[in-house]
Amino acid sequence: MVDLIIEKLILYATLYLDLESEDVVFVRNGLLHALGVIAPYQGEIDIEEIKKLSSPLPIIDELKKIKENLSVDDIGNIMSLISPRPKDVIKKFNEIKEREGADQAVSYLYNLSIHNNYLMSSDGYLNVEWLYEGEINDIMLSINTFKPTELETSSSIYPKCDLCYSNVGLFNSRNDLSKSNLRVIPIKLINEDWFFQLSKYSYYSEHSILVNLEHIPMYITKKTVQNELLFLDQFPNFFIGINSDLKNVGSSHLSHMHYECGKRDLLITHAKPRYILRKKEIPDCEIEYLDWHISCFKLRSKNKSSIFKLSEIIINNFKKHNDDEIGLVGDDNGVRHSSMIILSTKSGDTYTVYLIPRNNYNTKEYPSGIFNTRYENLNIKDEPIGLMESAGFFILPARLKDEMNLMIEILSSTNYSISDIIESNSSLEKHIPFINNLVVKYGRKNSREAASALVKYEIGKISEKILKDNSIFKDTIDGQLALFRFLESIELEVK
Ligand SMILES: [Zn+2]
Repeated sequence: MVDLIIEKLILYATLYLDLESEDVVFVRNGLLHALGVIAPYQGEIDIEEIKKLSSPLPIIDELKKIKENLSVDDIGNIMSLISPRPKDVIKKFNEIKEREGADQAVSYLYNLSIHNNYLMSSDGYLNVEWLYEGEINDIMLSINTFKPTELETSSSIYPKCDLCYSNVGLFNSRNDLSKSNLRVIPIKLINEDWFFQLSKYSYYSEHSILVNLEHIPMYITKKTVQNELLFLDQFPNFFIGINSDLKNVGSSHLSHMHYECGKRDLLITHAKPRYILRKKEIPDCEIEYLDWHISCFKLRSKNKSSIFKLSEIIINNFKKHNDDEIGLVGDDNGVRHSSMIILSTKSGDTYTVYLIPRNNYNTKEYPSGIFNTRYENLNIKDEPIGLMESAGFFILPARLKDEMNLMIEILSSTNYSISDIIESNSSLEKHIPFINNLVVKYGRKNSREAASALVKYEIGKISEKILKDNSIFKDTIDGQLALFRFLESIELEVK
């Protein structure tokens, strides 16, 4: 039976993974050895059955039934054998990019990554998504049902981290995932080497990462903006953004410089201005301070160097800006506490850059940070607020899916007492005040559908509050006065 499965894999690779006739014998012999089979299968194969497949998983499942002890790396090895070599993928990607454009090239890489089982799903359809309609701006919420993002682990000898280039083709990966089938694309941004790869747990369209070829720490400077705009010159229909380079208010992976990219329409790009600003010396760059959940400066220009100049002024000055009135400590005796999240897009020949100030200074009263999620809302999201949340796409933890179902049960059925449900589901303990609030407001006799909508609405409301708590210049008189003091310090005038 295994010999038949080997032939199915060969046929599959011929159809979907660019396996060419010259390499068939070579790959077949590799598979025979890997699976302990002496001679190839001699009978016929049902081509139609293989043509119907959109991923190799059904063949792998068939194999697992016969060989129950197959490890993650054994399967990784099979996928590696039937996948095209990295250099062939790079060559084809660049040919398509040259001939049909970046979008088509990324589609090729995406389809390849599904077909060689690198990506966990054909798209983010397993995720739960809903829109929260806020008073001024909406928020899209999503529960990432895939494995949660790995937290940064201590550095190892090889590879130095999960983002390093040396993960390409790696077995025995630290996070229990074979990366034998990972394929990446080298990208040059002026004189610096980067590489582009798809995110293994995609939760939006073409969710990808741009990674520095060197294992260098995250940095937020004018150069960070330059890199983003240079990337957009090559991938104009994408957005590209970066988390701040600070603990608790930034990336979970600070040791290796990287950006997040993708093609999702982010709600921040629809936000209206609260103030239109002006920098006299840089007249060809439009500046707005947005009417958005979290403080954000929006810069817009066809002139890249004007955007760089203005970004540099805002970033550098915000990093050292202190304001006692709102507890903002950017620089504490040489220890930096302020940074930015930076998101960029391109439309035609116009670039737009969103600068979102962040600060991680903490006090006894606010041990996780003055400008951070409040303790009482950590039940909804306890991970740092990053690029995607700030842009209006709020990623909630996978655990919340089951917890929400229990809350829906509480709001739509009186069969069990609330305390009985909480007692038998300890994951709900952290939600007790939230659940009490739900029950007081909405009672327990809702239809299941209504209960689901109510739970989603209340989670959206908390998420909006979380964003506001992470904001530096709050929508209060004190917050807005602090904003004006900062604007004055960098000579930005309100038009
Ligand atoms: Zn690294």
